[in-house]
Amino acid sequence: MNKIIVDSERCKGCCLCIDVCPKNCIEQSGAPNAAGYYPVQFVLDSDCIACALCGTVCPDVAITVLRDVDEDEAVAKAAEVKG
Ligand code: SF4
Ligand code: SF4
Repeated sequence: MNKIIVDSERCKGCCLCIDVCPKNCIEQSGAPNAAGYYPVQFVLDSDCIACALCGTVCPDVAITVLRDVDEDEAVAKAAEVKG
């Protein structure tokens, strides 16, 4: 599967990534981060094609794109990104 990981503490909630995603895989979350911004999150089971447009457009380098990973790899990478 393909998916993205968002570093929620880096994200400023500008929504540029939501606008650019061709598959509507990204949504804004309902809970603020430590800085008071509402970060985005991956829409579960959405059809990400790993095009990386979201990661490219993000001015805060908050998105990591994972291509062809299984669930265990995705969980491990998420832990790595979020420390
Ligand atoms: S990699 Fe492409 S399809 Fe996947 S969430 Fe980002 S913009 Fe959307
Ligand atoms: S483009 Fe980056 S900073 Fe803006 S909402 Fe998306 S992840 Fe957050």
